[in-house]
Amino acid sequence: MTLSFPKVCIVDIPGKGQGVRALEDIPRGTLIIAETLKVRYPMKRDLITPEAIECLLSFPCAPTDHPIIGRFKHFLPLVGSSDEGHGLFATICKVNHTCPSPLDGPNAAYCWDEPSGKELLHAIHDIHRNEEITVSYIHENSEASQDPLTFLRKHFGFDCSCRGCLRPAAERQHSAKRIKAFYQFDDLVLEVINSKQYAPLSILKDIEKQLLIVCEEGYESLISRFSHNAFQLCALYGDAASASEWEALTRDMGMVYCGEKSKDVQESFGHAKDPSTHPAWGGFTFLGKRKLHGPCKEIVAYCYPPSTLASTLSPEPLVPAPGKLSKGQKKKARAKAKKTEKQPGLEKD
Ligand SMILES: [Zn+2]
Repeated sequence: MTLSFPKVCIVDIPGKGQGVRALEDIPRGTLIIAETLKVRYPMKRDLITPEAIECLLSFPCAPTDHPIIGRFKHFLPLVGSSDEGHGLFATICKVNHTCPSPLDGPNAAYCWDEPSGKELLHAIHDIHRNEEITVSYIHENSEASQDPLTFLRKHFGFDCSCRGCLRPAAERQHSAKRIKAFYQFDDLVLEVINSKQYAPLSILKDIEKQLLIVCEEGYESLISRFSHNAFQLCALYGDAASASEWEALTRDMGMVYCGEKSKDVQESFGHAKDPSTHPAWGGFTFLGKRKLHGPCKEIVAYCYPPSTLASTLSPEPLVPAPGKLSKGQKKKARAKAKKTEKQPGLEKD
């Protein structure tokens, strides 16, 4: 079976060099590109082919930089690969950056698929035709998230002008504090969950509170991690209904980011269906019935936004049901019938 991908193209983007643009509407969760790498870092001598060098040289490099080393910034980390390598991809590495923020955020995300040896790019929001596709270059890095402008200037050599970075300094500092707090919380939460020192409901409330801030700050890539922590807490206390709801969220956000076939998503499918298959199940007091709860409605609303694409919102029926035509459709149908009648050479039955 051949997969079909939405059409995209590499174009010149004013002020950003090249970038990637959608040539058609791309609904959230769609796999946009699955790409084989052209160059791997650390480099293996036998893999440096003329084609690899040509691809490397197609990326820009500051005149003051070394022609090879200066282009390393275009490589992206193969998140989840066994050797934690970096790869250069002809199209995916041309996708520009947008910082997650309350105002803006990337509309796509990439992940490394070890079994196929491909980097996948998924739409994490609806992308409209002609819209630029962007990702976040900041990977799981709390320091970089708190001061993206400095991080991006140092590591990628550009001044980010996304809407988040153009906010007044006070607003950016406010975000920085909140981002620091949810990363610190994330560092400690598993220890807290497993300590038995705190009431499970109060831990769950804290997870939910931080998760709401994660959503407000646009750090959607962290949602599945937080919801999986909430799942583990509910599983530890044997609350199957609540655990299932949290893990369904983990699964669905994982699918948007990495696709249905990813190993983590497959595991989530199983745990959401039957939380007792998780090793943490009933490890502490067994509540036996629902004492905790699933994600609040604000989190659910954020994670399951309605489609913004006209084509998916109101799909035109291919064959309209008889008698159910609107006035406009009837008019169109009549015009079409007339045109067909007039067309020469068309034989009627
Ligand atoms: Zn920015």
